[in-house]
Amino acid sequence: MQGVRKTYPFERPPELDSPDRKRYPVIIVGAGPIGMAMGLELDQRGIANIILDDDDKVSVGSRAICWAKRALEVADRLGCGERMLEKGVTWNNGKVFFGDSPDPVYGFNVLEETDQQFPGFINLQQYYAEEFLIDVIDTREHTAIRWLNEVTAVEQTENGVVVSVHTPDGDYVLECDYLVAADGSNSRLRSMLGLEFVGETFEDNFLIADIKMKADFPTERWFWFDPPFNRGQSALLHKQPDDVWRLDFQLGRDIDREEESKPEKVARRIRAMMGEDFEFDFEWVSIYRFSCRRMTRLVHGRILFAGDAAHIVVPFGARGANSGLQDVDNLGWKLALVMQGKAPAALLESYNDERVEAARENLRISAGTTNFITPKTPASRVFRDATLQLAGRYEFARRFVNSGRLSTPTILKDSALNTADTDHFDSHMAPGSPSLDAPVTANGRKTWFLKTLGDGFVGVYFQGTEQGAPAGLGVLETDAIPVRTLTVAADGGPDGCDLLDHSGLLQQKLDGRPGSYYLFRPDQHLVARWRKFDPQAVRGAVARATMQTH
Ligand SMILES: Cc1cc2nc3c(=O)[nH]c(=O)nc-3n(C[C@H](O)[C@H](O)[C@H](O)COP(=O)(O)OP(=O)(O)OC[C@H]3O[C@@H](n4cnc5c(N)ncnc54)[C@H](O)[C@@H]3O)c2cc1C
Repeated sequence: MQGVRKTYPFERPPELDSPDRKRYPVIIVGAGPIGMAMGLELDQRGIANIILDDDDKVSVGSRAICWAKRALEVADRLGCGERMLEKGVTWNNGKVFFGDSPDPVYGFNVLEETDQQFPGFINLQQYYAEEFLIDVIDTREHTAIRWLNEVTAVEQTENGVVVSVHTPDGDYVLECDYLVAADGSNSRLRSMLGLEFVGETFEDNFLIADIKMKADFPTERWFWFDPPFNRGQSALLHKQPDDVWRLDFQLGRDIDREEESKPEKVARRIRAMMGEDFEFDFEWVSIYRFSCRRMTRLVHGRILFAGDAAHIVVPFGARGANSGLQDVDNLGWKLALVMQGKAPAALLESYNDERVEAARENLRISAGTTNFITPKTPASRVFRDATLQLAGRYEFARRFVNSGRLSTPTILKDSALNTADTDHFDSHMAPGSPSLDAPVTANGRKTWFLKTLGDGFVGVYFQGTEQGAPAGLGVLETDAIPVRTLTVAADGGPDGCDLLDHSGLLQQKLDGRPGSYYLFRPDQHLVARWRKFDPQAVRGAVARATMQTH
């Protein structure tokens, strides 16, 4: 079995040798993927932070493998998206099987748009993603991880948080302006504050086996309902890098966990699936019961919850770490603006509102998947099986098959930060949507639209055939929050624009008729758009998006 990959050294914190209590702008509890991404996000915005973790290693065992396009785009902004893509196994297609037939009921593609920098999904072991984040953190000035630093108590004061830390060398106390709790699903911070985690735990058990094998299956997600090798249950197969494969067997409710975990028993299951002569080595085996739970509020004074500490779901839709990274994307710019005095603390309420809504959406979808995979009554099983049978013949039935609705970014359509459309646009990308990517040319070099958007407020102006843009474009100052404008020309359009939309995708998908102006917030979600550039309207929209008008 795969063991611990490596341990990270404990370094004696300077506070143990100083009588003075030190204050940091932000303390992050937990160096999982979400805490580390948060550290980078804040570092990038010039906000100093330290990440405290009670452990000295990255994730061990079978945890996240599927990283969605949006998570990769966020990771790219933080400095490790391309590395994840390079190491990961790219996939866009999946197949659903039912019963004894070796042929799939149907196949699907998870990438809705073509010509994007990142695929619909990659598969990459969580420990690799965490190691890549650590490597970036090691190069940064404003963030650092303290291994084997366990947070044992927190206390909120009028203007900050007092944090008690236990280390192998002794205990110490720190203060911070804000604390981000990213301490995972069993969050001790949540318990310390007595906060609820509402939802349900499902009774079915799942055996997750990561095995090393040589196989030439296509790199697709394969899901079986009621297969002959796991009668009455389900199974899932996924390819990971280094010839590691994830096999997932539903075991049912009342099982003997010890018996089911025995290597010989697991090997028998695997051989029943893959063939009697099948050669493999175990990487890891675990038996899980899954829950869908969330906090009802993520903002508690100066303590902000993110990632699994804030919400957990069954893994079939890969909505755990993927949604946690959207928390980071959402919180980072808001916390930075509040801490820099450029936005009121009320802006953090929008983190609460937007991401609680996202957690509700993820829980609803994930619970729906669990109910489909593990029908609770004979009637729901009959309905489920009939749906699968119909799906083989009729396309309409496929949308009722639920083997996992794979993570897509939450569209913040009801956010109070959006400025409602006053003009008509023939585009699905309405205010609240994360931006679509597109290949563009900038400074004569091919690149990607999202890379050029960066992580501040950005306006995108679609230039017509005329030379020269309207007055006031460029960098617009709005109450100390600058808005950088990118001018976009179509192929054959005027020279001197910031971006050339050489594939025409931006113009087509955003309905970017000449003169249109799109305003994006720092997490690359669209927040307002107009048919005509009006600096006053842009200033108003930025004020709304940063709660200056509330
Ligand atoms: C079988 C399985 C499959 C999954 N598959 C996917 C998938 O394909 N895609 C996906 O997106 N998600 C998936 N997930 C979910 C994913 O693993 C989690 O969402 C992710 O790990 C959450 O990251 P986090 O940083 O919030 O928490 P964690 O990764 O749990 O990190 C929390 C950190 O906090 C530290 N900590 C805890 N308490 C303290 C304390 N008091 N003081 C200091 N440090 C502390 C812990 O040591 C840990 O390092 C899967 C999960 C499982 C179990």
